[in-house]
Amino acid sequence: MSRADGYSLKRAVVAAVLVPIMLALASCQTVQTTKTGAVGVDRQQTMMLSSAEVNKAAVQAYRQTMQQAAKKGLLNRNAAQVARVKTIAQRLIPATAVFRPDAPKWAWEVNVITSKDVNAWCMPGGKMAVYTGLIEQLKVTDDELAAVMGHEIAHALREHGRERASQQAAQNTVIGIGAALLGVGDVGASLASVVADVTVGLPYSREFERESDRIGVELAARAGYDPRAAVTLWQKMGKAGGGAPPEFLSTHPAPENRARDLTDYAARVMPLYEAARKR
Ligand SMILES: [Zn+2]
Repeated sequence: MSRADGYSLKRAVVAAVLVPIMLALASCQTVQTTKTGAVGVDRQQTMMLSSAEVNKAAVQAYRQTMQQAAKKGLLNRNAAQVARVKTIAQRLIPATAVFRPDAPKWAWEVNVITSKDVNAWCMPGGKMAVYTGLIEQLKVTDDELAAVMGHEIAHALREHGRERASQQAAQNTVIGIGAALLGVGDVGASLASVVADVTVGLPYSREFERESDRIGVELAARAGYDPRAAVTLWQKMGKAGGGAPPEFLSTHPAPENRARDLTDYAARVMPLYEAARKR
């Protein structure tokens, strides 16, 4: 190898390895997406993607999902169910202000999808879906429906989708460096499909679930729904089984810990529920 070859190789390595890392580090920031609330959720989050780009991707992914459901005739088929879900959402959304003053003004959307799956989710920026399987198979009460919707809304408030997509972006940067060195090119997926994956398809970590459980019971209580319903809902889901694993059940093992945590935090927010009921 000549000295000139060595030099150009070094430059190529710098370009391939250091530049992506520097770009990634430059855009990396530590944030607290939410205020702690009565339940005291407090954890620094590392983000490599901006809220703006993730929320834009979520809008795109949500449109696609709803268009596909509509094309198959699976969107908002039962007017009574849709009205019920929207009423609960309208009570939960103002309660989000305690955690994020900006959240009540988000472009919230909620739709009901006909599916046997016992599931519900909320994409970053407040784009929600509730599946008929959840409503019908579990014969949920309004309090239980509020519990699952509060949990999903909490994922959006904490921007868990953005955090998860950031973790993936970090991994992709590493994969990208390897691929660049090997000359096999780009392996990145579009951000919209990543956001759809992390919200709808992939399980969140136990830590994310615990945060959403705790914030979820507070949202329900502040909206005047019995926070203890989170425990009964979760038990019903555990018994239902079958189909795709529900987002709300996505972090086995340790179910007894989760039941205990939900019971504990539901008890803590009971005064908020009592106060909301008096209003
Ligand atoms: Zn969850």
